Amino acid sequence: MSEQNEKKILFAPDDEFTFSCDNTLPCFNTCCRDINIFLTPYDVLRMRKTLWIPSDEFLHKFTVAFLGDDGIPLVALKMKEDKDKTCSFVGPQGCTIYQDRPWSCRMYPVFPVSAEEEEFLIEEKLTCHGFRANKTSTVRQWKKDQDISKYDLMNEAYKKITLHDFFQRGNKLEPGMSKLMYNTCYDLDAFRRFIVGSRFFDIYDLDEQTMEKIKNDEEELLRFAYRWVEFNVFSEGDLRLRDKEMDKLLQAKRGAAS
Ligand code: SF4
Ligand code: SF4
Repeated sequence: MSEQNEKKILFAPDDEFTFSCDNTLPCFNTCCRDINIFLTPYDVLRMRKTLWIPSDEFLHKFTVAFLGDDGIPLVALKMKEDKDKTCSFVGPQGCTIYQDRPWSCRMYPVFPVSAEEEEFLIEEKLTCHGFRANKTSTVRQWKKDQDISKYDLMNEAYKKITLHDFFQRGNKLEPGMSKLMYNTCYDLDAFRRFIVGSRFFDIYDLDEQTMEKIKNDEEELLRFAYRWVEFNVFSEGDLRLRDKEMDKLLQAKRGAAS
């Protein structure tokens, strides 16, 4: 795409922009190809649930994983190997997983400039007829229309990890911790197997209600996965050992290290 075919505009959350997308447009379905779509752990949870496949199978078939400079695992949607590099989920009628499409696909055409989401960028492409529609929205309205609040909520919890001071100070995750973070947050079935199949609940002091939620509710499991990463990577959080003497030693070790 040449510069002339693209116009970049910065927006505040309450500024209006013109855009609408539907299947009557001549460009319908032409944009779900050859794009970089990064997936959050919550995106993966939603997508693989709607496909009814285990998390490891989803990750293997539909994603590519790599490490950022800070050692944080990054997961992106794998495009097909056809000549157009189409998304695996696009069908004649549009996105076949529309109700569970990733956060980035919901947000298009607006993208936050920073994690604080005080400013947004829109890249107006001439090939995208949506920018010539009659519909205007603010970013706030757009997010509401795209039913994005649950995604934002879950992603906020993940940002507590990815935007942690540890990284702001220039630290990098050890390979073992990168792996733990990937396995715990993205491969949720493996994390559940690890918890349920080990003496986890004998070792960590969790109440019955929390244990049941973790076992039976994927979103609770993901929230707990974030706590587990904070506990292991940053030695933070409220997880306690059942063995009070061991817990005292652990807390003392943490205090000395901080
Ligand atoms: S309007 Fe834009 S987003 Fe919608 S189908 Fe056309 S190119 Fe894709
Ligand atoms: S997940 Fe759906 S909306 Fe996103 S690129 Fe693929 S087909 Fe398009």
